[in-house]
Amino acid sequence: QWIYLDGELVTKENAKVSVFDHGFLYGDGIFEGIRIYNGNIFKCKEHLDRLYDSAKSIDLVIPLAYDELLEAMAETIRRNDMRNGYIRLVVSRGAGNLGLDPRRCPKPTVLIIVEQLAIYSEEAYLNGLKAVSVAQRRNIPDALNPKIKSLNYLNNILVKIQSNFAGADEAIMMNAQGYVTEGSGDNIFIVKNGVVTTPPCYLGALEGITRQAIIDLCDQLGIKLKEEPFSMHDVYIADEVFFTGTAAEVIAAREIDGRIIGKGQAGPVTLKLLEEFRKIVDQDGYK
Ligand code: PLP
Repeated sequence: QWIYLDGELVTKENAKVSVFDHGFLYGDGIFEGIRIYNGNIFKCKEHLDRLYDSAKSIDLVIPLAYDELLEAMAETIRRNDMRNGYIRLVVSRGAGNLGLDPRRCPKPTVLIIVEQLAIYSEEAYLNGLKAVSVAQRRNIPDALNPKIKSLNYLNNILVKIQSNFAGADEAIMMNAQGYVTEGSGDNIFIVKNGVVTTPPCYLGALEGITRQAIIDLCDQLGIKLKEEPFSMHDVYIADEVFFTGTAAEVIAAREIDGRIIGKGQAGPVTLKLLEEFRKIVDQDGYK
């Protein structure tokens, strides 16, 4: 496995980052998770745009221009001979001293890892996941804006720990007002009487690229879609609930907080969207 690290392709064993890197010391950095389907970097521009936006927002200058970063990704994919897989693109503040001040970190660290990926079995896509709602609140926009895909994922990890304790596969987060925001690393949708609803991102969710792809698909397929706040009550009584994300794609929840959702398996709208999503994944992106 070859890893891109600060302009060079190195082996996994040689891919080492300083212990003074503020990405490690403070979670000071940003990242993207991107899929390669059949040699196509899916929604490449959307992911790179989000990365540069996250960087701008935390006042981090990515030392590579857009085309250079794209070429670095393409080169890493070629060297690993990867046609289908996952790209993790990380830019951290770089090595500094033990103080917080980013001015002491003159050189951001850029790394690209490409890897095989299979988080859920095909069976899970049909049967759905078990999920729980968690007490941990999503970072609210005026604390750390969830639109920034930062390396600071402790909130999401705490949520994952809660769902692990409950023996569940996924967690559902709410904001301080009790409106549902998203999963631990995925956006959420509910389906009721044929209408698909997802929370507006301003409630406290990442602007997921898969989320947008599903919104676009609903539009193309003539499925009615709303971006509207909802609570756990609406989740429990939904006909279908599903999560979307780069790694998870489109995956149903069969049981949430002990309530069986719909028929307790992936419903027709979820499966239709998954099927149509998988048809476009090797088209919309960069080859
Ligand atoms: N929400 C969070 C907190 C995430 O980390 C992710 C994963 O990137 C998503 C949602 C889904 O976003 P995307 O579809 O862009 O992968």
